[in-house]
Amino acid sequence: MAVSIKQLAKQFRDGTKAVRGIDLDIADGEFLTLLGPSGCGKTTTLRLIAGLEEPTEGTISINGRDVTNIDPGDRDVAMVFQSYALYPHMTALQNMTLGLTVGGMSKAEAAEKARETARLLGIEKLLERKPAKLSGGERQRVALGRAMVRRPACYLMDEPLSNLDLKRREHMRTELKRLHQRDRVTTIYVTHDQAEALILSDRVAVLNEGTIQQVADPITIYERPANIFVADFIGSPSINFLNGELRDGAAMVAGRRLEEARAPGSGRVTLGVRPEDIILEAPGSGVLDGTIDFTEPYGGVIIAFILPQNADGLIKEREHIAASVDVHQPIEIGARVGIGFRASRVNLFDAATGDSLLSG
Ligand code: ATP
Repeated sequence: MAVSIKQLAKQFRDGTKAVRGIDLDIADGEFLTLLGPSGCGKTTTLRLIAGLEEPTEGTISINGRDVTNIDPGDRDVAMVFQSYALYPHMTALQNMTLGLTVGGMSKAEAAEKARETARLLGIEKLLERKPAKLSGGERQRVALGRAMVRRPACYLMDEPLSNLDLKRREHMRTELKRLHQRDRVTTIYVTHDQAEALILSDRVAVLNEGTIQQVADPITIYERPANIFVADFIGSPSINFLNGELRDGAAMVAGRRLEEARAPGSGRVTLGVRPEDIILEAPGSGVLDGTIDFTEPYGGVIIAFILPQNADGLIKEREHIAASVDVHQPIEIGARVGIGFRASRVNLFDAATGDSLLSG
């Protein structure tokens, strides 16, 4: 099922503009994630698509049919909420089969389908329990199962894994991805968890303050963010921003020319350098020198936080340059190091507008 959104806007009665003119085309079978910080309008956008909110402006079409004024029940979408909204007086099984039996399916067939889905979700032993006797994560899986057994033409999922512990979350993430690759049911997924978005999605739409900042595949979002907001929001630990200048088509930073960091034009630029694109060298041989202030272990790598020397006004907003270092590379707090950049991977942004100089 293809979904097309044109100039969609929502202003609530109290004046809050939650969605400010969104254009988005979601292809049949696509997994698209709406990603952004708390309050950026993700849930509202999803509820508008589901028909649970009325837009102030704009249109929504499903498979070419304008559904802007059509009831939620007639849109053939299944919504999974962050809060599970299960019927408390029914067992997990009854919650999962209700949508099927109301539609005319026999109880036995509906139960069989629900059991099959429950096995996938690891809740087959819980089917006779009522929601009050399930943990939050279990309830969330029942809610997910209830949407999945219906086999709708489109899933709308609002943080459906938010109540699971980390292990279960990873497992369910893998299951969701596998299911989507098998069935290719169009899915619009809301999360503020960038790892989840990058792992699950065919494309990610990054939102901020009710507007779309970038829509692209996960690799492009990470490697070629459209602006400083996206660059900063994506990636953990965060990208480093440095003040620089563009001269004759290449970036200058700390008085050094990065021949491979190229963009057309000239003037003040902001360089965006991911921690893994910083290379620690011998003092004096990088672009600038610094002192390792502290480190944070991140599993297979260590993040070294370096205080650059003679670097007034070089770093934007933060004090340190963060570099990702292999755990086996010896690093010493207080040691002096040279800081080099993988210049071809550096992102360049217009210092005034924050827009990428590399996109397009
Ligand atoms: P979160 O990740 O915290 O769930 P979100 O990106 O999903 O956030 P929304 O729930 O879409 O954000 O909210 C967008 C903005 O609209 C927020 O400022 C929120 O306070 C506001 N908002 C949401 N629902 C209403 C409402 N019914 N009335 C007034 N304002 C609302």
